[in-house]
Amino acid sequence: MIYFILFIGLVVFTVYAFNRNKKRPVKNFPENWKALLNEHVHFYRELSFPEKEKFRQRMMLFLSEVYIEAVETEIEDLDKVLIAASAVIPVFGFKEWHYNNLSGIIIYPNNFNGDLEFENEGEKRIIAGLVGSGRFEKQMILSRKALHLGFQNDTDKGNTSIHEFVHLIDKMDGVADGIPERLLQRQYITPWLKLMHEEMEAINENKSDIRKYGGTSEVEFLAVASEYFFERPNLFRKKHPEIYEMLEKCFQQNPADRKRKGKN
Ligand SMILES: [Zn+2]
Repeated sequence: MIYFILFIGLVVFTVYAFNRNKKRPVKNFPENWKALLNEHVHFYRELSFPEKEKFRQRMMLFLSEVYIEAVETEIEDLDKVLIAASAVIPVFGFKEWHYNNLSGIIIYPNNFNGDLEFENEGEKRIIAGLVGSGRFEKQMILSRKALHLGFQNDTDKGNTSIHEFVHLIDKMDGVADGIPERLLQRQYITPWLKLMHEEMEAINENKSDIRKYGGTSEVEFLAVASEYFFERPNLFRKKHPEIYEMLEKCFQQNPADRKRKGKN
């Protein structure tokens, strides 16, 4: 009997583990999500009709490959829409993309501290999102408040969840170092480092309009500059034409030239 129970336990565990790691079937895009996308995701609104269709398919593909869980909060449709949109935006220029280094996203209701606590009021809870390592390898933790805030303001050049997905893209070559080797051809690496270091110096001397956090390391520079690139592409191209050109090569998209072609 005991063997039977153990056997059943093993089967349940295996099915559970398998389902977690396995791609689930790609679902159809829920009708009511279209309005959510149009209302909240500026990037999507700028796409042409066929691009929008492609964007929605890519969102559903992403959601079939990654699980989303919430801690002390309910997952709403808008959370899923915003997370999937943030995942697709930086890789929309590629024909196909799988975040092989991500299995799940955990949503916290609010910002958290280094011990992943979000409740203690007195303490500083300044982290809005992170890409996990060690015990949290292949996981992303996102503050729901920050996730929503990133899409609420179209002019602030910032977006926490896009920032975290860029960290994942950077990390895909094995190390997060601000040089996305998977995307950037070899001959551009030295020029990219030079541009990056010059601008980081400008940030640290208060001579740049790129968010201060971008001056802390190459890793953060890439993520912060990419947020700006996708949130305010026209302004970014005007103020930082060389960095813009480099990110355009990286992400294989030119968001500043995208005209509003259609609505759906
Ligand atoms: Zn970061």
